[in-house]
Amino acid sequence: MKKYTGVFLFTLFAAQLFAQSVSTAIIHVIVIAMTSASLQNNMTVVVTGNKITGIGKTGQLKIPAGATVIDASGKYLIPGLWDMHVHVFAKRSQEDYDLPLFIANGVTGIREMWTKTGQMQQVKLWRKQFYEQPGTIPRFVAVGTMVDGSPSFWPDADTANTAAQAHLAVQRIKAAGVDFVKVYNGLSREAYFAIADEAKKQAIPFAGHVPNSILLKEASDAGQRSIEHLTGYTLTDCPTIETEAKKYLPEAIATGSPDRPFIEQALDLCDEKKSFALYQLFAKNDTWQVPTLIDKKISILDTATLYRDERLNYVPGGRQTFHDDYWGQYHKTVGEWDTLRMMQQKSFTVVGRMHRAGVKFMAGTDTGNPYIYPGFSLHEELEMFTEAGFTAFEALKTATINPAIFLGMTDSLGTIAKGKNADMVLLNSNPLKNINNTRSINAVIVNGKYLSRDALDKMLADVKALAKKNSYGRATNK
Ligand SMILES: [Zn+2]
Repeated sequence: MKKYTGVFLFTLFAAQLFAQSVSTAIIHVIVIAMTSASLQNNMTVVVTGNKITGIGKTGQLKIPAGATVIDASGKYLIPGLWDMHVHVFAKRSQEDYDLPLFIANGVTGIREMWTKTGQMQQVKLWRKQFYEQPGTIPRFVAVGTMVDGSPSFWPDADTANTAAQAHLAVQRIKAAGVDFVKVYNGLSREAYFAIADEAKKQAIPFAGHVPNSILLKEASDAGQRSIEHLTGYTLTDCPTIETEAKKYLPEAIATGSPDRPFIEQALDLCDEKKSFALYQLFAKNDTWQVPTLIDKKISILDTATLYRDERLNYVPGGRQTFHDDYWGQYHKTVGEWDTLRMMQQKSFTVVGRMHRAGVKFMAGTDTGNPYIYPGFSLHEELEMFTEAGFTAFEALKTATINPAIFLGMTDSLGTIAKGKNADMVLLNSNPLKNINNTRSINAVIVNGKYLSRDALDKMLADVKALAKKNSYGRATNK
């Protein structure tokens, strides 16, 4: 009996080995490994199971017997893209809409920015699905739970006002298996610093917005891992800030006003030398930036432009799903439009200066918010990094190797090398020549599963068809 069991087990084991050893060989491909800006021409990359098992010159690297061979002559292979600021727990049904859209656009990894502890069960199911049905959804590289002050800006956010409440909130979040604590606008100083303290004790990172009560340098020194949306900045023009700040500063000093540090910070940020010193502090403290430049771009688009967007076809209910006036596009005066345009330009200036000071960046879109489209918008975000002065290579880093460094996952992800997980995107055109070429997607490989252009088109068509069928519409606030 024992003997038979042994044979049976061996057979099972062999069958499993066989199942895992199905290989795909991508030949004659130009590899952009993202460890440097160089192109490796005429390469063969072998994927076996969910790993990259071989990389070498085509003709020299042995292709495993039985491998599916894909001739990728003239095409470019980059690591899978990551969107480091997404909200998949928005109103819509994520499995059917958002998650396939990420994959169809080459986004193989996402950082979820507001997962409530009660939603961890769903995240676990998605993480299982990622392995059991490869190619259907992206990798959830990290999920975070928001903690705001009370009353919170968003209904049903976790809140903490006192140090004691903050300690408990962090403990609860850690115990639920969440990856990080997301700090938010309304936190008091007491609660914020208690979160920083407890996060250190619990060995869980904290990241997010810089609360209105906290200076940028304090957030950096407290160990906040990433700052989202350029929070903490006043993105209006400096002459206006300086006029205003100088008007209020003497009074703030005289009365010991709690606003004084913020007025001083606003003045410092307008002083190029002083702001540079702050950015150097970010670089030294490893305080990363996720500027979500896309939201500044959307804020300057009028409704006619937003409604014309062809990608609304991927959203059930189309534009009616989004609050019509979410970005305040109605009722804007000429002066307000001008201010918004100036703020958008200022965000490029700030990002460019930080970049030159050595601050590290990641691409994030804040998708889940109106008129930001899962997967699609990431490519726009990359384009905007180049508008802020990044080279195409530097922009591409913000969605590949940089997030892997940020999360300590470089052993398995973020570059193309033997032994890494097989998350890659095959492009028709060179993204280092023009960052917009990240959109020329020929195939996506996610966790070893090869999805051809036809397969990706089918995913897109399926989402579109489902969105049309479920055009339930939603009462708008108009
Ligand atoms: Zn967000």
